[in-house]
Amino acid sequence: MQIPAPLVPPKRLLMGPGPSEVAPSVLRAMSAPTLGHLDPDFLRVMDEIADMLRVVFGTENRLTMPMSGTGSAGMETLFVNLLQPGARALVGVNGVFGTRMAEVARRCGAEVVTVEAEWGQVFSPEDFAAAAQGQRFDVMALVHAETSTGAAQPLDGMRAVADACGALLLADCVTSLGGMPVELDRYGVDAAYSGTQKCLSCPPGLAPVSFSARAEEIMAQRAAPAQSWYLDLGLIAKYWGGERAYHHTAPINQLYGLHEALRLALEEGLEARYARHQQQGAALAAGLEALGLSLWVEPEHRLAQLTSVRLPEGFDDARGRRFLLEEFGIEVGGGLGPMAGKVWRIGLMGHGCTRPNVELCLRGIEAALAEQGVTASHPAS
Ligand SMILES: *Cc1c(COP(=O)(O)O)cnc(C)c1O
Repeated sequence: MQIPAPLVPPKRLLMGPGPSEVAPSVLRAMSAPTLGHLDPDFLRVMDEIADMLRVVFGTENRLTMPMSGTGSAGMETLFVNLLQPGARALVGVNGVFGTRMAEVARRCGAEVVTVEAEWGQVFSPEDFAAAAQGQRFDVMALVHAETSTGAAQPLDGMRAVADACGALLLADCVTSLGGMPVELDRYGVDAAYSGTQKCLSCPPGLAPVSFSARAEEIMAQRAAPAQSWYLDLGLIAKYWGGERAYHHTAPINQLYGLHEALRLALEEGLEARYARHQQQGAALAAGLEALGLSLWVEPEHRLAQLTSVRLPEGFDDARGRRFLLEEFGIEVGGGLGPMAGKVWRIGLMGHGCTRPNVELCLRGIEAALAEQGVTASHPAS
């Protein structure tokens, strides 16, 4: 074969559902010399990462660390460790990621009852209570920020429903962590997972997870070990905890990146960071409506960091996205499932969530509409 030329990726502005823009200092941190996974200096990096994750997750949970793998590995970690064959799971499905959680739970041998809502809608605690029908469940799971639709799921009142059916409360925080308050302890969430490439603005590859003491107790009582050796928390906790026992080689440089990304988030201040997302999310929404476009999610349930905007009649989705990429260097996401071909998903996550990016994106979309001769005239919602 002919040896390929060295890699020179083009410059893009990542404004889709992830991966998101990465801060230059995160990329620099990742290019630092690789240490051994038991090097005392690296062990200190691990401890600092765990401490910073607790702050961002809003928890005192001892068992808090990043798993090796993307957000879906975090999802799988929760279910393989907390469910055993024959267990029962109550899962909220209102988008791609609720659907995926239900599938992962089924593959763990659990009996899954789903609570369904239209894509873009959110659940009330009463929806979960009605679906539970007074039965008992081992886990109750929902998606905090549904990236496939742009809906923000309130966590208020969910703990009480989980208690009523004897379940641990699980939350997908992949797109919420670092972009909006997560506060696991305040809402009584027993286990949560995230990913690095959404609002933490790291390259993909790590999945922060956190487990309450109660979740740890449940895991300790398992009759049989988790069917996944790689994701077995009992084993991994020995490396991240006191014993530092080798399990698998930690992705060292990936962890350097997370360390820097978390540091940047805390340096900015979480409140300021969440306010920045709110502000720019609102500016994008207003700008899209000013272009005559309408948004998929009702104002009170919109995520600031992910906006689903309806494509106007006669607009060619693929051609529009190609135009935006080629002419403006901007990547946005298309719709999934029932929303395929109907929306674009625009991400304002972490480092990329800035006023200039909002302005550029709006100009790009305006030009994409003009290029196809499409005029949008939806009434502002
Ligand atoms: C992106 C995402 C995932 C999956 O993460 P991967 O990194 O793609 O594996 C899960 N849940 C939500 C809400 C997401 O946005």
